[in-house]
Amino acid sequence: MSATLKPLLPGSTLGVLGGGQLGRMWAHAAQRMGYNTAVLDPDAQSPAGLVSHHHIHADYLDAAGLKQLAAVCQAVTTEFENVPADALAQLSVTLPVSPAASAVAVAQDRAREKAHFVKCGVPVAPHAVIDTPEQLAAVNDHLLPGILKTSRMGYDGKGQLRVSTRDALNAGWAKLGNVPCVLEKMLPLASECSVIVARGRDGTMVNLPVQRNLHRDGILAVTEVFAGNVPDALANQAISAAKAVAQELNYVGVLCVEFFVLADGSLVVNEIAPRPHNSGHYSQDACDVSQFELQVRTMADLPLTQPRLHSPAIMLNLLGDLWFKNANGLQVEPAWQKLLALPGMHLHLYGKREARVGRKMGHLNITAATPEAARAVALQAAAILGMAPF
Ligand code: ATP
Ligand code: MG
Repeated sequence: MSATLKPLLPGSTLGVLGGGQLGRMWAHAAQRMGYNTAVLDPDAQSPAGLVSHHHIHADYLDAAGLKQLAAVCQAVTTEFENVPADALAQLSVTLPVSPAASAVAVAQDRAREKAHFVKCGVPVAPHAVIDTPEQLAAVNDHLLPGILKTSRMGYDGKGQLRVSTRDALNAGWAKLGNVPCVLEKMLPLASECSVIVARGRDGTMVNLPVQRNLHRDGILAVTEVFAGNVPDALANQAISAAKAVAQELNYVGVLCVEFFVLADGSLVVNEIAPRPHNSGHYSQDACDVSQFELQVRTMADLPLTQPRLHSPAIMLNLLGDLWFKNANGLQVEPAWQKLLALPGMHLHLYGKREARVGRKMGHLNITAATPEAARAVALQAAAILGMAPF
């Protein structure tokens, strides 16, 4: 890589592949620090493109688009996990790209991801890789009931089927198009948590505190972060595992590692995201350095300092479903004034034109002096939104 290793100071232009909400919040963080931003995304109305200095409307593998991006910026990152690793590889010929294509390629493929965890000595769910009919036939019964997941392109629970019997497994693989899959044993989850680490080019690593996550229908619904939300021993184990995963990838950038906590209290790694993560959004309002600022610092080669959680926090996702509460089927806007009347309420909306069921439209970060106070406000917010309590 012919990348310059000098820090890129404010005034430089930083680029991102992908124009979704993660890119938008990254652009806000970069701009706050005096950087210009450039976004490459095929959608002319992309949330990040709408707030950036440069918006290149092109497909991720469009040679002219990539060339244009490389011409306007001095470093590139990605906000979209399924960005073709080839696009990153092409850009890295002339620019520092973080994370590297090789690390993103691991995160894009569940089978490679699992193999990486095993290599790091981090516990994973019992699983089998199913790329061929022979591998399907050879699956051990002890993996059932299980979850069949496509190896590539899954997100928010898409590309997954729960299968209890061998017949269901066979039918499920066909339903998923006989594409490469991983079958995971269904584990008894007591809870879920995640850790966000940032690693600089010099190997420095810092982390956000352990986040406790509640998923509904395969989509993150609530994240809670405060001292004691996860037992100390478990939190330390999760942080060490996340750091080992980043270290072993020689990772540069922000990485999220998701974990399951099993009924017996043990920890199992689920998957990684090579970018800021929905479960780290609370850091915008509850930490002295957000996950998006960490991303800016890593790509610009600026110092990393250990973030400090200064307030207990709860994040509630605002899914498009909340816009469809009207009995007539008409869209209704959530009651923003009522929500903003609650103390410690921080509203984040992504500027998406159209609400759709299951679509991430925004989130609420609730900060308070104590976990109990944050929880009381979060439950009031959930009631206003018509969200089930948690
Ligand atoms: P995203 O990338 O949006 O986090 P995803 O589509 O990659 O989601 P997973 O993280 O694999 O999906 O799974 C989504 C959720 O399904 C998990 O957070 C967990 O609640 C549940 N789940 C997944 N695998 C298992 C398992 N082996 N045992 C029990 N529950 C599971
Ligand atoms: Mg997940």
